[in-house]
Amino acid sequence: CPSATEDMSTTTLPIDPTKMGVGRSIAVLTSGGDAQGMNAAVRATVRVGLYTGAKVFFVHEGYQGLVDGGDHIKPATWESVSMMLQLGGTVIGSARCKDFRSRDGRMIAACNLVKLGITNLCVIGGDGSLTGANEFRTEWSGLLKDLVKAGLKTNLMSSHLNIVGMVGSIDNDFCGTDMTIGTDSALHRIIEVVDAITTTAQSHQRTFILEVMGRHCGYLALVTALACGADWVFIPEMPPDEGWENHLSIPQYTGQLYFLSP
Ligand code: ADP
Repeated sequence: CPSATEDMSTTTLPIDPTKMGVGRSIAVLTSGGDAQGMNAAVRATVRVGLYTGAKVFFVHEGYQGLVDGGDHIKPATWESVSMMLQLGGTVIGSARCKDFRSRDGRMIAACNLVKLGITNLCVIGGDGSLTGANEFRTEWSGLLKDLVKAGLKTNLMSSHLNIVGMVGSIDNDFCGTDMTIGTDSALHRIIEVVDAITTTAQSHQRTFILEVMGRHCGYLALVTALACGADWVFIPEMPPDEGWENHLSIPQYTGQLYFLSP
């Protein structure tokens, strides 16, 4: 690895908010499952970062881009985030990365960041991505020490890795956050689907079972079941009582919707 840039810990920051980021470099990535709204979060990070005078970098393909480095980490400009607010998915790409789960993989990622003088990382992802981010932050100084032992020349040794996590997950499964990025769009989309099949359910007196996402969190199932008047809802937080199948098979229940959360 070539030598890294200036020591952030000795940088004196001016009070002017438009200059607060001067001397700092921020990298932004999206990781794990995509969620509607991730692009808006990336755009806001880039523009606020640039506004404060910081250098901002995109990391393409999540943690995989951090490990692979090279062209996966590119400078962001004001214009490069134009016209992405209305797009779904994530424009800078996302991935699931096996390498980042190991310390060796995170060491390579740290080397790539240090080479560019980046000590601020904005991770937009779900619980897995943010667990990984916390792991990375915790072992950052140890990783730098090992990199120096391996020959890396840097004066960033005293720096911390500053992490901001934005919860990009349609599951709404993160405490301390009113609504995670993507949940509202997912609710909207589920209700559209329900509207489309409810008339069929009634016309044919058939039962429809809808399975929605949420992993260990029943929020999407619960809220959409309430919103559309489903007859039953199954959520992981409150498994049904013994013998629930007998109630379900009562013939008077017809034309109904059941909601299941995996
Ligand atoms: P999500 O962020 O949507 O929950 P995942 O659980 O698949 O998605 O996590 C996305 C990526 O985050 C993984 O592919 C992996 O690179 C990283 N990651 C997840 N958990 C950990 C962990 N415990 N330690 C390090 N990295 C992790």
